[in-house]
Amino acid sequence: MAHWRWNIPFEYTVYAWDLSVRGAHFDESHAFFNGTSIFLSVTGQTDEPCHIRLAPPVHTRRWKVYTSLPIASGHPEAAKQYGFGVYAAPNYDALIDHPVEMGTPQVLRFKAHGALHEMVFTGVAPKLDMARITRDVQKICASQIALFEPTHKQAPFLDSAQRYVFLVMVTGDGYGGLEHRASTALMTSRHDLPSLGVEPTEGYQTFLGLVSHEYFHTWNVKRIKPAAFAPYNLNRENHTRLLWVFEGFTSYYDDLMLLRSGVIGQNDYLRLLGKAISTVHRSVGRHKQSVAESSFDAWTRYYKQDENSPNALVSYYTKGSLVALGLDIVIRQGSHGTRSLDDVMRLLWERFGRDFYRGAGTGVGENSIIRLIREATGVDVAEFIERHVEGCEDVPLDRLLSQQGIAMVWKPASGDPTLNIRTRVVQGETHIAHVYEGGAAHAGGLSAGDIVVAVDSLRVTESGNLDKLLHRYQAEDVVLIHVFRRDELRAFPVTLAAQARSECTLEVS
Ligand code: ZN
Repeated sequence: MAHWRWNIPFEYTVYAWDLSVRGAHFDESHAFFNGTSIFLSVTGQTDEPCHIRLAPPVHTRRWKVYTSLPIASGHPEAAKQYGFGVYAAPNYDALIDHPVEMGTPQVLRFKAHGALHEMVFTGVAPKLDMARITRDVQKICASQIALFEPTHKQAPFLDSAQRYVFLVMVTGDGYGGLEHRASTALMTSRHDLPSLGVEPTEGYQTFLGLVSHEYFHTWNVKRIKPAAFAPYNLNRENHTRLLWVFEGFTSYYDDLMLLRSGVIGQNDYLRLLGKAISTVHRSVGRHKQSVAESSFDAWTRYYKQDENSPNALVSYYTKGSLVALGLDIVIRQGSHGTRSLDDVMRLLWERFGRDFYRGAGTGVGENSIIRLIREATGVDVAEFIERHVEGCEDVPLDRLLSQQGIAMVWKPASGDPTLNIRTRVVQGETHIAHVYEGGAAHAGGLSAGDIVVAVDSLRVTESGNLDKLLHRYQAEDVVLIHVFRRDELRAFPVTLAAQARSECTLEVS
């Protein structure tokens, strides 16, 4: 039967005003896009090579192109390096996995184990300490390459691109990241970036943690994938019970690699770890949902949160990172210090990751983690997984850490008494966004959606004012809270709680 091929010219305009790491944003100063926001997928032809011609804007000749997307070498209109022209991708999956930034950003470059990396800063960021950022990010990248490839120190992205590109959007208070096979799109606050001649803020560790997290994904999830993502089906949700491995382990290693590469010290690392433990323990949702369930429901629940989510959900990121820490210690103890979670990562890399884009591209089976950990380390973690991954039990970090010489100490956070709610100001009104289960407001009958209008007959105007009104009371005092629920005025006597947010600190014993 004859097989006809039609060339159909197709013209369309895209509305591009989403300044997030997953969208597309064009204005007179720059243009950024993810292929997912721009390129149509042709049913039945997604395995075919794609060419994309980028045309320069008419209002300036100064823009350059920053992307890990390879240049279409051999094509008559092939782009020159950083130039406009034709770029190429081997298939649709690759085409949408190389975001593109065009403009006049600040750029730094370095090599890690011989592989070229570049970091591109878009947005106003005066007096950036580029030397400091270069030095720190270089160390992080080099450490991660050496973790996965201790012998050959081969960077993972060379199967897809000539270099790795960090596309950083600098804003007032943005935060976020999205990983790709040879690049990542990051959003950061300019206050988290170091300035020349000034000691960096704690926020700089947040930025480096984000860099480390997304870079780690170059191995863990961009190449080592759940079988459910290999191949990824773009027409429907892709469910897996394993996101605690792909996001949780990555969240464990992001800060750990800052410590190992020497960009932060032990005290800073323990502070970050204490923060993660505090965050997980603050939410009662961890007793109701396992990280395996949380993974599976990512599409329908974790990314569609409602007013009750803090009471009903657990994060496969944060609890997943504690599971990774627990597993790391259990493996080290079970193997008498000869194996660690690193060995698991390396086995996953060799088995599933290294040749993912070169070969058949299989992924990690839903029920194979226990077997793979035993193969990599000789340690049986079946019971640990049953309790802390499939079940809702807390990872026993107090015991595990103390066996490693680290004491977990809980200190009540100082501060005013509290209603244990989260509020949101909408047009000058203080709305209750979340009522934390078991807290003061919950016991007193308040509900998410209530509009708080008065505390002991004094008017509540904005969130800062609610805190000020509570400032004069102590825990166990009863206050009368007036709220509108729907259009009905209600009054609830509420017994205030002490600041329930106790903080975990870790001390070397
Ligand atoms: Zn992630």
